[in-house]
Amino acid sequence: MGFRSQHNNARGPYKGGIRFHPEVSEEEVKALSMWMTWKCAVVDIPCGGGKGGVIVDPKKLSVGELERLAKGFARRITPIIGQEIDIPAPDVNTNSQIMTWMVDEYMKVANNKDIGTFTGKPIEKGGSKGREQATGLGGAYILEELAKEFGLDPKNTSIGVQGFGNVGYWFAKLADELGYKVVAISDSKGGITDENGLNIDNVYKYKKTNGSLQDFQNDGKTLHNITNEELLALEVDVLAPAAFENVINDNNANDIKAKYILELANGPITPSAEKVLLEADIVVIPDVLANAGGVTVSYFEWEQNKADSYWTEEEVFEKLKPIMAKAFKDTIKFSKKYDTDLRNGAYILAVNRVSKAMKK
Ligand code: GLU
Repeated sequence: MGFRSQHNNARGPYKGGIRFHPEVSEEEVKALSMWMTWKCAVVDIPCGGGKGGVIVDPKKLSVGELERLAKGFARRITPIIGQEIDIPAPDVNTNSQIMTWMVDEYMKVANNKDIGTFTGKPIEKGGSKGREQATGLGGAYILEELAKEFGLDPKNTSIGVQGFGNVGYWFAKLADELGYKVVAISDSKGGITDENGLNIDNVYKYKKTNGSLQDFQNDGKTLHNITNEELLALEVDVLAPAAFENVINDNNANDIKAKYILELANGPITPSAEKVLLEADIVVIPDVLANAGGVTVSYFEWEQNKADSYWTEEEVFEKLKPIMAKAFKDTIKFSKKYDTDLRNGAYILAVNRVSKAMKK
């Protein structure tokens, strides 16, 4: 069973990823499509909000089954998507290979050559340079803005990353390169911590060979294995949940010790848990801002496809950085103006932009 939800297209075509996960539901896909509307408005790109999902555990499928599933889903949504209508992209458990299968099937069934109907494609098939790292990179740009705003010194700022998929990996790697101390990482099976900072490339290689992070050795030293729950409760400056919804909830909100939470996943904090965090003066940088780098580079890909002209990686990064910085500043401005937290600030900003477009 699969879904595609189209929430709002006042500012441009519906835009948003497709996830493959056993816990996908119609309600979840609808909520995620609404977040895409606000996210695209926060970074001020001309796109609306959409989302798709299939109830499946892709890890249990063979490559052939995965290809047939991707193409089957693309066939079923072909009548409601299109380059100027609704533009899917990768999300949880979907990647550039899956986008290639989907766009090939879409172009065959729709009988057109609108390769910009899907974004997140591989470079060889019309993808954009920098799309692969875009969400993590956007998060790293927001981290830099956060550091400027709150006076954080990178080398004295510790970070814990929950989730080591595309987003968690790139964010951890780029934060490390910017001089921050990434002291803990976890994936679905558990994590590791080292207060002196982890070597992200070595962690990545270890996971590729061993399938998990357990018993990873940092520069020859065996590390302390931790659970996901323990990672969330670590005493770090910045906690970056980069996996799924609702990981910070009523059961663990009181255990959170981080000073800042950078929401790289969509919806990692439940509303009632957020109240607890805000009362404890924890600053939450909302998903619609923190992880908007991905959809922004998707929009760049769409522009390049339509112009049939491609940018260098440097050009992509040069265009992404000011967009993220402006979105951060706009969010701060609205939260101050309305004397509210950053999530509400981002929502007020986004609802204003969307409602203006709808009225016009
Ligand atoms: N799935 C990503 C998100 O939640 C990217 C969506 C896109 O590129 O359209 O923002």
